[in-house]
Amino acid sequence: MKIRENVPISTLTTMRLGGDARFVIDIEKVDDISEAYEFAQDKNLPVYVLGEGANTIGRDEGFTGVILVNKLKGIEVLSEDSSALVIKGMGGEIWDDFVELACKKGYSGIEAMSAIPGTLGAAPVQNIGAYGQEMSQTIVEVEAFDSLLNEIRTIKKEEMGLSYRKSIFNSGKDAERYFIVSVTVKLERKELKPPFYTSLQRYIEEHNETDFSPNNIRKMVTAVRAGKLPDPKIEASAGSFFKNVYLSDEEAEEAKKNGILVWREDGKNIVNSGWLIEEAGLKGKTLHGMRVSDKASLILINDAAKSYADLAAARAEIIKAVKDKFGYTLEQEPVEIA
Ligand SMILES: Cc1cc2nc3c(=O)[nH]c(=O)nc-3n(C[C@H](O)[C@H](O)[C@H](O)COP(=O)(O)OP(=O)(O)OC[C@H]3O[C@@H](n4cnc5c(N)ncnc54)[C@H](O)[C@@H]3O)c2cc1C
Repeated sequence: MKIRENVPISTLTTMRLGGDARFVIDIEKVDDISEAYEFAQDKNLPVYVLGEGANTIGRDEGFTGVILVNKLKGIEVLSEDSSALVIKGMGGEIWDDFVELACKKGYSGIEAMSAIPGTLGAAPVQNIGAYGQEMSQTIVEVEAFDSLLNEIRTIKKEEMGLSYRKSIFNSGKDAERYFIVSVTVKLERKELKPPFYTSLQRYIEEHNETDFSPNNIRKMVTAVRAGKLPDPKIEASAGSFFKNVYLSDEEAEEAKKNGILVWREDGKNIVNSGWLIEEAGLKGKTLHGMRVSDKASLILINDAAKSYADLAAARAEIIKAVKDKFGYTLEQEPVEIA
């Protein structure tokens, strides 16, 4: 087990901000996990688990504890027949590689989540989702190292408390208790049917696409995303910076009367925070070195922010502008290492 010292968090996260982490340990085999927690416990230091850092932001003061970077690799087909595929991947696998493999095999359930940056192990943490699919629809179970009991246990989907950008892994009393070792999903052999999400549907119509196989949906989603979302290798961001706003039925009626766009999904009323930011006049604006993307206003791109303090100042201005105009307080989506 290799232990690195004083590693800038900016080099471990796609927003590329943050001071030094005292210790960083790459987890390359399952046995490294207990050893790494032991190392931290011996020194009485907190642990933070990281994948690709695509949804995580470092602060200027850094982190005085131990960051474990999940590099566990391997994908295994547990069962496959004419109707379903059950497939398990180690948490350090790149999410999009996992999606690609499932799509190539012709099974459906995660193809609309193609090209989401990050690791497989992080996918259940905030119940990733895109274009109408989310992790909760296909996940079966995870194997996770329980840092309280010092053992690996299986956690079934029903125990994960998955909802919009939430799970037991990031919320409530058990947040940060587990290191997700592997993830198992069950996919089906079926084709999605139109109509699709607006931007995907638009692409389908513009390109006269009629093939809705998982592989082709993957291809189309990847193309749509490439047209509007920053590539973390080129532009620093953490994806959607704010969560969408969820309203009660009463609030939704009120909002509609005030000209706010509210859409309904799975019985819930949702306002797109990107739309709110755009309507507040911030689309394409640069604040303290952070640019509000002109293609997707929910995304903040770090063009020239020198520090987390710059990001915090930009965030405060955006939250205030939306609050002043609409009365909603936007909530940040990426987590911060603390
Ligand atoms: C350009 C861009 C586009 C994006 N688009 C989307 C999108 O469409 N939909 C979407 O849902 N998200 C999106 N995201 C956010 C991000 O891709 C996801 O949240 C992804 O799951 C992060 O993976 P990661 O490995 O980088 O996680 P990290 O940022 O490393 O970690 C995220 C959280 O998970 C925890 N964690 C990570 N690995 C483990 C583990 N093995 N065990 C326990 N906890 C763990 C961390 O402690 C942290 O709380 C986007 C991000 C970017 C930069």
